[in-house]
Amino acid sequence: MIRENLKMVEERIDDACKRANRGRDEVTLIAVSKTKPVSMLREAYEAGIRDFGENKVQELTDKMPQLPGDVRWHMIGHLQRNKVKYVVGRAALIHSVDSLRLAEEISREAIKKGVTADILVEVNIAAEESKFGTAEEEAADLVRAMAKLPAICVKGLMTIAPYTENPEDNRYYFHRLKQLSVDIERENVDNVSMDVLSMGMTGDYTIAIEEGATFVRVGTGIFGVRDNQ
Ligand SMILES: *Cc1c(COP(=O)(O)O)cnc(C)c1O
Repeated sequence: MIRENLKMVEERIDDACKRANRGRDEVTLIAVSKTKPVSMLREAYEAGIRDFGENKVQELTDKMPQLPGDVRWHMIGHLQRNKVKYVVGRAALIHSVDSLRLAEEISREAIKKGVTADILVEVNIAAEESKFGTAEEEAADLVRAMAKLPAICVKGLMTIAPYTENPEDNRYYFHRLKQLSVDIERENVDNVSMDVLSMGMTGDYTIAIEEGATFVRVGTGIFGVRDNQ
């Protein structure tokens, strides 16, 4: 099942790239494997997936040693400061950094471990009350403040778009996040690049690609529905 699902997702990514005149190599598919057993991750790995996304620290660190070392693990869920030490130096990219205090903790931990931590700033682009992420108006200031911290590298922005029946509804939000990243890029802040745009999930990843996503995070579309989360 996973192999067939992946084939379909790959086709849809290809088509979206073509529609947007983008190269297929500009978009990385992250297989969001939260709540799913390691056997299913192995199947995805066998089918060529090297990027996996998890939203809980415990699950991420449990699964990590059970898959080959060339897997890139993405921390995509809300991160508490007291769990930062388990993620820094292990996750390839932390997508969900939404406060200076959290970034400071990541910086401290990265110094301690002698590594540089790559992070994305999570933006609550639709200003939903239920969602984490910095406000759109505050994102640029936050990026500037984070850029001053040692052992941290801001690579771009991430957002979780609203849940919707009609994915076209989210085009506007994806477009805004892209615009925000262009505006920040233009400031040429030291230690900041806006190369990464992490947006789009099972319901709307083709739209996100058309609007400039470089990482799409697809769970259900690859592994099937989750029992609970
Ligand atoms: C669960 C999750 C996804 C994947 O959601 P699907 O709709 O199953 O594709 C993507 N991003 C984040 C942050 C998630 O928590």
